[in-house]
Amino acid sequence: MIIKPKVRGFICINAHPQGCAANVNEQIEYTKAQDSVDGGPKNVLVIGCSTGYGLASRITAAFGSGAKTLGLCFEKPPTERKTASAGYYNTAAFHAAAEKEDLYARTINGDAFSNEIKAQAIAAIKEDLGKVDLVVYSLASPRRTDPTTGETYNSVLKPIGEGYSAKNLNTDTMKIGEVTVEPASEEEIAHTVKVMGGEDWEMWMDALAEADVLADGAKTVAYTYLGDKLTWPIYGKATIGKAKEDLDRAASAISSHLSGKNVTATVAVLKALVTQASSAIPVMPLYMSILFKVMKEKGTHEGCIEQLQRLFTECLYSSSPRLDNDGRFRVDDKELDPATQAEVEAIWPQVTEENLMALTDYKTYNEDFLKLFGFGYDGVDYEAETSTLVDHNF
Ligand code: NAD
Repeated sequence: MIIKPKVRGFICINAHPQGCAANVNEQIEYTKAQDSVDGGPKNVLVIGCSTGYGLASRITAAFGSGAKTLGLCFEKPPTERKTASAGYYNTAAFHAAAEKEDLYARTINGDAFSNEIKAQAIAAIKEDLGKVDLVVYSLASPRRTDPTTGETYNSVLKPIGEGYSAKNLNTDTMKIGEVTVEPASEEEIAHTVKVMGGEDWEMWMDALAEADVLADGAKTVAYTYLGDKLTWPIYGKATIGKAKEDLDRAASAISSHLSGKNVTATVAVLKALVTQASSAIPVMPLYMSILFKVMKEKGTHEGCIEQLQRLFTECLYSSSPRLDNDGRFRVDDKELDPATQAEVEAIWPQVTEENLMALTDYKTYNEDFLKLFGFGYDGVDYEAETSTLVDHNF
């Protein structure tokens, strides 16, 4: 079939196999062009490995450090009539590239919150790797079924305390208007913490320790976003921020439970980037469109793969990691540079539908969004008949 993007609201419901491969290969080429990660990981488990920051983590570990990677994701395989999800095609392309370089890669496709998938991952580590020395926790999911009680929790993106009205760009209609969000109830806050907080990260680390598949001195990292004034009401100081605060609690709990094995758990603060998870958050598309313009002008703009390269070399495997007062790795330093934030804040009130393209870099935002699904890569013939099926299934 001829595969053109089918965008519905803030999601694209199909993906292009060769375009997704181009996305993965571009990131691999970037990593290979950098110096290899000194003292980097050898055997890595990436939970949430197929898109966004998890995919970039897997690529950095494998192609920057020569690590063997076991990945976990929740993706839709293709049928003859329907494309796979982008994460499926990305993972197939990652496997193809790893195989070419004789790099071990195995992927388990299923619900990482479940006991069954944890058991499958542990069995795979025992079979193929023995132990892992790095566990990356990079899940972004709107819901989670608690494996103990069977109850399913949904997260919400709402402010805490008071309602919130802010300027918002509707990327579907290209209209700029006000978005008003009512405050979350106590129950909604608790459910969001259940989904996006640290409980599942702790369950993973406990299960891996109990099965004795963590190497002595293993590291584990989970990702968060803090942002600044413009995004605090909907992110940092809202339900998702509350859930992310719980990662700090979990990091301390994991490091102290597993101190006998010298395991260290750290939260890493990354920058705002277009991913399937972040495009669903109100305010973020407009904020990112302005941020990209300012950061590009300053020469500080980065994508997922550049962020991960710096996380590995400047934090995870550095002898003097950049840590904040709460013990978190900071890779959002360029985004939160005060001069950058001041410029973003100055542009924010001036943006209208008429001057959107001039005052912001919505063009890059939109291109990056389509690229997540494999659309817009040079060298891919989007007019050609294309099979939805790929060779490297997993
Ligand atoms: P993403 O949507 O691109 O990736 C999510 C990953 O989780 C995918 O691999 C998906 O397959 C996997 N996944 C989701 N539910 C799953 C399940 N039940 N079982 C197994 N796998 C599952 O998201 P992202 O933006 O890369 O986010 C990853 C982490 O980075 C999140 O913790 C997010 O909060 C954080 N982060 C994101 C940003 C940003 O701007 N995008 C900034 C800072 C931190």
